Amino acid sequence: MTGLAASSGARSGKRCEMATETAMGTGGRWTPESWRAKPAMQMPTYPDPAKLQAAAARLAGYPPLVFAGEARSLKECLGRATQGQAFLLQGGDCAESFSEFHPNNIRDTFRVLLQMAIVLTFGGATPVVKVGRMAGQFAKPRSADMEVVDGVELPAYRGDIINGFDFTPEARVPDPDRMVQAYNQSAATLNLLRAFAQGGYADLHKVHQWTLGFVEKSPQGERYRDLAGRLDEALAFMAACGITGATTPQIRETEFFTSHEALLLPYEQALTRIDSTTGDWYAVSAHMLWVGDRTRQPDGAHIEYLRGIRNPLGLKCGPSLDPDELIRLIDLLNPADEPGRLTLICRMGHDKVEDKLPALVRKVKREGRTVVWSCDPMHGNTIKSSTGFKTRPFDRVLAEVRGFFEVCRTEDVHPGGVHFEMTGQDVTECTGGAQAITEHSLALRYHTACDPRLNASQSLELAFLVAEELKR
Ligand code: PEP
Ligand code: MN
Repeated sequence: MTGLAASSGARSGKRCEMATETAMGTGGRWTPESWRAKPAMQMPTYPDPAKLQAAAARLAGYPPLVFAGEARSLKECLGRATQGQAFLLQGGDCAESFSEFHPNNIRDTFRVLLQMAIVLTFGGATPVVKVGRMAGQFAKPRSADMEVVDGVELPAYRGDIINGFDFTPEARVPDPDRMVQAYNQSAATLNLLRAFAQGGYADLHKVHQWTLGFVEKSPQGERYRDLAGRLDEALAFMAACGITGATTPQIRETEFFTSHEALLLPYEQALTRIDSTTGDWYAVSAHMLWVGDRTRQPDGAHIEYLRGIRNPLGLKCGPSLDPDELIRLIDLLNPADEPGRLTLICRMGHDKVEDKLPALVRKVKREGRTVVWSCDPMHGNTIKSSTGFKTRPFDRVLAEVRGFFEVCRTEDVHPGGVHFEMTGQDVTECTGGAQAITEHSLALRYHTACDPRLNASQSLELAFLVAEELKR
């Protein structure tokens, strides 16, 4: 673990600003607050600026959640994914919440991600880079600023880091102290994740124990048990050859990274620090940050913020993204064409992926840019069920994944990763899958405060499909 990011995200460090400017190419002078001069979409208006400043100042004095050296290590892993020598598995909640904060929820999401990773590593014979939408994924872009229920109009809920979910005027007022609570929850979540990843829970000898009770008896559970049995045999064979957890740490522990959408810029700014090893600026709120499909304007505040930090970045690419604009964004976010710096998270929709993605892929190839191509089959496939729930038909999710792999094959680029909204809980939020969740059963356990997530069984089913695609 190198490069403890120490100093706070203010105007200190002349040497470092110069270093950052060289790496950033043509975008002009960058500072952790240069985004303030640009138009910012999807950001709350805080009623009390003094309170906002006080919260930001507190955060600026708090320890980093992640280290610059770890972000660099993730960038290296993603660099391998650009070559087809690794595969990114990114997943977790649509939005973390204060009320669902519980060690069991963190553990269950983590274990499903581990299971998915095992399916992909073993089935696809590819090292899997595990990145959670966890420990900081709180802020949400919304399609409308206001929400109307029974004729009453209130500001939209924007995630627990900004305002409250309850449909009352008080709850919906943006409160800067929520940033401090989100930081503390992220710190505790990350602490547990680090313990799970390195303290024995992720030992490959425990693959059987990761299966959740409700998945055990499902077809996915059976399929997984079979794979875990084969893994046991492989481990026993390796042990006989002298390869064990004692000789090879990858057998007894795993590397796990965190990520979230960099939406709430006052929070991100307060957690932007200079890395003492390199003198570069890093976001220390997570290893990887991404910019959403609604906030990726080349002249906007979010792109301005992201271009100056050295972490690996994600860019959501929806059907409205024009190939020329994509190149403009790549010029801003990855001017030096560093492998692993930029992951394009494509979320076209099952019916548009084969129509829209090829033009982007061709343009990026023609311009000789190095990116990780990742597929988010969730955000382009959200519909309203006849029973009134926001849902995602599992068939469409699968169809987008298949379409993505098909385009990658046809255009001859490496499929580099997948991005999901999922949970370890036994929820009924997406229809379909082996459990055959219907529109009518959505109401049974619909717990999300935002977008519908895959449950553990659907997540495993999807992992098996991705593994098959990786093998083709
Ligand atoms: C998200 O990932 O939760 C999200 C809002 O995605 P997008 O920006 O792609 O709509
Ligand atoms: Mn979402």
